[in-house]
Amino acid sequence: MPVIFANPSGAPELACDECGCRWFDRMTNCCYECGAPVPEAELAAFRAALAEFARRGGRPGDRTDPLAPGAS
Ligand SMILES: [Zn+2]
Repeated sequence: MPVIFANPSGAPELACDECGCRWFDRMTNCCYECGAPVPEAELAAFRAALAEFARRGGRPGDRTDPLAPGAS
């Protein structure tokens, strides 16, 4: 089951507890490495963590954060 970490910049990052990697495929909502599915509840929790981080004024500037302001 995937879990949520904070990366060095403090931004939340969704990680796979099956293989330990921090990649997941947003197209399929599965772990990029081992293919373990990411439960909707985990995705919801991750989105909530991202929203909370943004509310605190975080500037992730990081590939894992689709909400990063000015990301292009
Ligand atoms: Zn995995």
